[in-house]
Amino acid sequence: MQAPLKVALVGVGKIARDQHIPVIRASDQFELAYLVSTRPQPEFGVPVHASLKEALNAGGHIDAVTICTPPSVRTEVAEMAFEAGCAVMLEKPPATDVATALRIEEAARQAGCVAYASWHSRFAPMVDEAAAWAHQRDIVSGRIVWHEDVRKWHPGQAWLWEDGGFGVFDPGINALSILSRLLPGSYEVQRATYQVPENSRTPIAVDMMLHTGTASIDVSFDFRGEQEETWTLDLEDEVGTTLALSQGGAVLSLNGGPERSGHQLEYERLYSHFAGLIASGKTDFDLTPLRIAEKANGLAIRQAVEPIFN
Ligand code: NAP
Repeated sequence: MQAPLKVALVGVGKIARDQHIPVIRASDQFELAYLVSTRPQPEFGVPVHASLKEALNAGGHIDAVTICTPPSVRTEVAEMAFEAGCAVMLEKPPATDVATALRIEEAARQAGCVAYASWHSRFAPMVDEAAAWAHQRDIVSGRIVWHEDVRKWHPGQAWLWEDGGFGVFDPGINALSILSRLLPGSYEVQRATYQVPENSRTPIAVDMMLHTGTASIDVSFDFRGEQEETWTLDLEDEVGTTLALSQGGAVLSLNGGPERSGHQLEYERLYSHFAGLIASGKTDFDLTPLRIAEKANGLAIRQAVEPIFN
């Protein structure tokens, strides 16, 4: 058996603690070697450095770097990792904009390293089956409702409201990542309306209409959801057959039939995919969800709403 790949994880916030660190530690393919953090992090029992540069200079070997910071501070870290010959996994979305994401991909290519723009929701349990269903038909319409309470899911994350923070697109882009797995191709944004708190640079709610292939998809994102979140994606084909994904891709119902669910192993599958990319030397850098968000930003009508205190 091959020795596990040594990982340096950058940015020990909510998703690093909830998913990345436990999954890496339970994995046979990866080993948590370093953390890069502004805080001490004694409970994880691995060396903690204030920067990736410091971790790389510490002398130990690093095979892969996982970047779990907000998107706005990733480029320099990714470029440094590639220069050191590391494979890099970027949490979603890979960068604040498509041009920056392409720069990161190009830096990987020039260094001959693997880059993975990860979209964890594509590994939600019922997404593969939903994609197989969608790939066999002409979809004519769909509806995404992605509503959650920002105070419950993102307490204290001030970066969400700053330039490059994505606002409600931060969870909403998960829905777009599932949609573009089910309906691959290029997307037009036909209209978009953003509600933007007076003290924010990014939207708290988004209403937009997308078009791809034969399908028009109505989208509603809202960060002012009630305690109970709604993460649903519904599609209908040209003869009226329907698909309903709920709970972020964990539950599936076809044509009004019984709801079925699978085991939640999103991040385990994400890391298996990353290991496969490293083994085959391949990059996986699909920017479709980010392109949709960027197109919406370019044409959205912005309505000012009351300030947010997160
Ligand atoms: P978070 O709790 O705010 O953690 C981000 C961490 O990044 C911080 O704790 C900090 O690490 C580091 N950091 C570096 N520069 C920073 C800056 N300028 N501002 C804030 N933090 C900075 O955020 P998160 O929820 O983990 O989200 C991080 C990324 O993962 C986002 O792209 C998000 O879309 C994605 N994600 C989040 C979730 C979720 O459920 N929260 C789920 C899936 C994906 P140190 O404290 O170690 O210095």
